[in-house]
Amino acid sequence: MGSADKPLVHVFLVSFPGQGHVNPLLRLGKRLASKGLLVTLSTTEDFGKQMAKVNNITHEPTPFGDGFIRFDFFNDGMDDDDPRRSSLDQCMAQLELVGREEVSRMIKRYEEQNRPVSCLINNPFIPWASDVAESLNIPSAMLWVQSCASFAAYYHYNNGSVPFPSETDPEIDVQLPAMPLLKHDEIPSFLHPSTPYGVLGRAILGQFKNLNKPFCVLMDTFQELEHELVEYMSKFCPVRTVGPLFMDPSPKAITNTVRCDMMKADDCIEWLDSKPPSSVVYISFGTIVHLKQEQADEIAHALLNTGLSFLWVMKPPLPGFSLQPHTLPEGFLEKVGDKGKIVKWSPQEKVLTHPSVSCFLSHCGWNSTMEALSSGMPIIAFPRWGDQVTDAVYLVDVFKTGVRMCRGEAEGRIIPREEVEKCLREATEGPKAVEMKKNALKWKAAAEAAVADGGSSDRNIQDFIDEVKRRST
Ligand code: UDP
Repeated sequence: MGSADKPLVHVFLVSFPGQGHVNPLLRLGKRLASKGLLVTLSTTEDFGKQMAKVNNITHEPTPFGDGFIRFDFFNDGMDDDDPRRSSLDQCMAQLELVGREEVSRMIKRYEEQNRPVSCLINNPFIPWASDVAESLNIPSAMLWVQSCASFAAYYHYNNGSVPFPSETDPEIDVQLPAMPLLKHDEIPSFLHPSTPYGVLGRAILGQFKNLNKPFCVLMDTFQELEHELVEYMSKFCPVRTVGPLFMDPSPKAITNTVRCDMMKADDCIEWLDSKPPSSVVYISFGTIVHLKQEQADEIAHALLNTGLSFLWVMKPPLPGFSLQPHTLPEGFLEKVGDKGKIVKWSPQEKVLTHPSVSCFLSHCGWNSTMEALSSGMPIIAFPRWGDQVTDAVYLVDVFKTGVRMCRGEAEGRIIPREEVEKCLREATEGPKAVEMKKNALKWKAAAEAAVADGGSSDRNIQDFIDEVKRRST
């Protein structure tokens, strides 16, 4: 791998331990490796263990395109049953405490192994990673795993240049440059004074306080999708759109050898194959959102009332948060028969591109949003918190590929079955459904062009690689 005196350019990816974070970072890693770089991906051992159970994880460099990928995890110092695991505050504090030391140690070890790191790339929630890079004189970049719109909201909030909702004025609208007017509950909810997730907001804002450290902010979006805003934000930060990272142009036979799923997907593709084109509603709320039981009941009844076929991901609750698995209304499965399928985890990328799927009832996490847009899939937006509420605004009002089922958790209500049913019908039949599908296919084509050879995202990745090489010589 590289000659003895000239090792490959080595990029070290450090991820927050979460599926929605590791997925886009690994996807970026694959792009970089396919273009000839050595890529090491790291996150906590605890998360890595789960990945290793499901995928073929190797610590040795695996050939990937013209380069290599390897995994290397660090121990966050907490056992599986450590009581701190149920407190987000304590987990984040411990992750930073141990992560700073471990990441630094790993970088020094790679140097000794003649694999010096040319660039460290981290994702949000671990802003301290760019401090580590700076202290070792290594260039760093950040992969922003949300939309440019959410990035802009955090950026302006951190700057203090635009009024945001506050304790004294919690319901003001927010007008940010090159963005539609956002109501108080449409800004990323971690920025709202009423948020119960303060530690996550602080961790994200930490990245903005550190924004002078990364020489580049890579974004999992594409120029054509958020054109005006990307141009505007580029005046203030070194933004480079590289998405949708989900759409890897390399042959699938290669990309599927390196994966990071934390759960083994249940088999559902054969079932989808047996369904007519555009007849199945796909329902999934990502990795963290856990619906209230009453909400799950209302969705179940709405599905029964519409008679639509559906594939519903009912993931078991994350350990440590004292949440109960969902139950289904009595007799539900018998009434539904073969029209519906419940799984614990789906191969979402394959599901969204399956011709039998008509629309996606989603919490609007940014990965799910990009995966849907890139697959030409309309969305029924059921955001809960964080950037999901802003993504929903864009999906419905800007990209025009979505209907909105709710405003977010702050709305504080269970959406009744009649409203769920109305959204399901709107997204699957009639002129609105046709219009949304048309728009979704337009975005799919634009996304394909962005990642194709010479497209906007492809060029940006190449420019980034050239810059890393320049900085490492
Ligand atoms: N995902 C999956 N199977 C599922 C549910 C989710 O593969 O059954 C993947 C999905 O494709 C996406 C990620 O998990 O890449 C979820 O990320 P997102 O940003 O949408 O939501 P988060 O989990 O971060 O809230």
